Amino acid sequence: MGFCFGVRRAIDMLEKAARKHSMVETLGAAVHNEQVVERLSRCGVKVVENLDELQGTTVAIASHGVGPAVLDEISARRLQLIDTTCPFVRRAQNAARRLANAGFFVIIFGDAGHQEVEGVLGWAGGNGIATLDGELDIEKLPPHIGILSQTTQSPAGFANFIKVLTDSVIHKASELRIINTICDATRRRQASALELARRVELMVVVGGYNSANTQRLAELCSGYVETHLIETAEEIDPAWLQNRMRIGVTTGTSTPDEVINEVLARLGGS
Ligand code: SF4
Repeated sequence: MGFCFGVRRAIDMLEKAARKHSMVETLGAAVHNEQVVERLSRCGVKVVENLDELQGTTVAIASHGVGPAVLDEISARRLQLIDTTCPFVRRAQNAARRLANAGFFVIIFGDAGHQEVEGVLGWAGGNGIATLDGELDIEKLPPHIGILSQTTQSPAGFANFIKVLTDSVIHKASELRIINTICDATRRRQASALELARRVELMVVVGGYNSANTQRLAELCSGYVETHLIETAEEIDPAWLQNRMRIGVTTGTSTPDEVINEVLARLGGS
């Protein structure tokens, strides 16, 4: 439960920057959790949707990272940059850049439109796509194909995607390169949550509705047991708990301790 390494690192960097600079603005939400964004806002870290909205001269990149075009624009505007991109996301960006530079078409197993995925695609220089469907139109694919994953996808889902994609393209592609860019924190959290889901009568997953890793945890656990995704303790419905002796709790990687403690207190007191 609680913050992963990448989220804790990003929050620490932003809190430190807020103490040092008069104003820090993040390009998009720093992490996908409303309560954390509100807490940061009280420390002086504000959110802007694009560079034109900036009021100050210090801009922060969220832990999900951005593509090179955004970094170029920040540099061209001579803004001070605080880059909190998670090292695991950076690894995926570097893999996309290396593959594209070597002439590979990059396929990312991930949610098209998610901030992290868009950024990684940017590092592929436009020579790639993001999809959750391994059955692609093979006529349009070049012979060299590199495959990556969004950092928060499940290993089982990625393995299945690779199998379906390989079956589709093996007669056309001359070279396939697979780089497993699912992050360690995601892997360990999912494995623990699944082990727990097998042993309880109800799972409560706590995290932001817009958090990809939280949604993935809820999806995975719901394959074993009744599962509810909540953002705050107030959403717990006492009816869920009736006649249940064993309740499992897990959280997304950007869920703050205060929210977790409130949920545990409410479950313990019900
Ligand atoms: S979930 Fe993984 S990739 Fe995302 S911020 Fe946390 S450690 Fe980094």
